[in-house]
Amino acid sequence: MKLSLVVPCYNEADNVAAFQDAVIGAFDGCGYDYEIIFVNDGSKDATLHNLRKLHAAQRCPVKVVSFSRNFGKEAGIYAGMSKADGDYVSIIDADLQQRPEIVRDMVKILDEEPQYDVVAAYQDRRGEGKVLSFFKKSFYAIINKLSKVQLQSDASDFRTFRRSVRDSILELTEYHRFSKGIFAWVGYDTKFIPYTACERHSGTTKWNFWKLLDYAIEGIIGYSTAPLRFATYMGCFSALAAFVYLFVVVLQKLIWGIDVPGYATIIVLILFFGAMNLLCIGIIGEYVGRTFEQSKNRPVYVEKEYLTYKNEASE
Ligand code: UDP
Ligand code: MG
Repeated sequence: MKLSLVVPCYNEADNVAAFQDAVIGAFDGCGYDYEIIFVNDGSKDATLHNLRKLHAAQRCPVKVVSFSRNFGKEAGIYAGMSKADGDYVSIIDADLQQRPEIVRDMVKILDEEPQYDVVAAYQDRRGEGKVLSFFKKSFYAIINKLSKVQLQSDASDFRTFRRSVRDSILELTEYHRFSKGIFAWVGYDTKFIPYTACERHSGTTKWNFWKLLDYAIEGIIGYSTAPLRFATYMGCFSALAAFVYLFVVVLQKLIWGIDVPGYATIIVLILFFGAMNLLCIGIIGEYVGRTFEQSKNRPVYVEKEYLTYKNEASE
């Protein structure tokens, strides 16, 4: 098997058949074999029903992994990758925003340029609003400053890579998965190619501002301990400031005999340091919470059903 296409699907009932058609169209006459691995991420619509139909028809080799509930796209990617038999593995969305023809180009690059192990697509022009793109830019600026791994801004999960890369990624069994960070962490030589995302074939995006913010925090907490250092610095700085102020107050009272009425100052300081305390506890809590989640050592996903095809001789 040359190529495995890993396709996470959450409520994509009207897209999966069109997606398969597009793949068959794109790879028609390409001269190598490929498989599609659909991961049904606990969809609430007819996605699974439609995937079963695609699997029964087997117009091209189709595998279907079905989760017991919604575990998120990252878990879907992990599950699909673990079922992949291809020498190359590709991650692509089910909504046809990412054209399968681009995968064919990626395969060509991997064939012709052995120095690269990963070909990743980034969006050259985003159709999104100014506010969102400002936040995204800030996110990349912050995380690249804070973290040891460097993330390519705008790089999506849309990428194709060699089996060795897949094996390395599967070894990372962390519960909180952040695939941009995971790809950066495992390394390998990556070629970035631009692509323009198309309109969604059907349905709506699962992202909104708050989900993106959560995702950004996930990335920063997961790939850097700098926020913890912020708490330490903040503590040192306020201790120093408090000490200096104490000194000033004592001098004022004892030497110059100035009365120090401090009601407003006290309220402001209490509020400020109360807020700082909460903020720092919150930061620590984020890390402790992740340690707690990970210490339970739960699997990344729960598989309810797995439909494969007969001739899995290519193992
Ligand atoms: N997806 C998933 N699980 C989720 C959310 C999304 O498997 O909990 C899949 C979804 O079906 C699609 C891909 O992830 O194939 C990208 O999702 P979406 O199109 O909503 O994101 P966008 O393209 O807007 O970034
Ligand atoms: Mg999409």
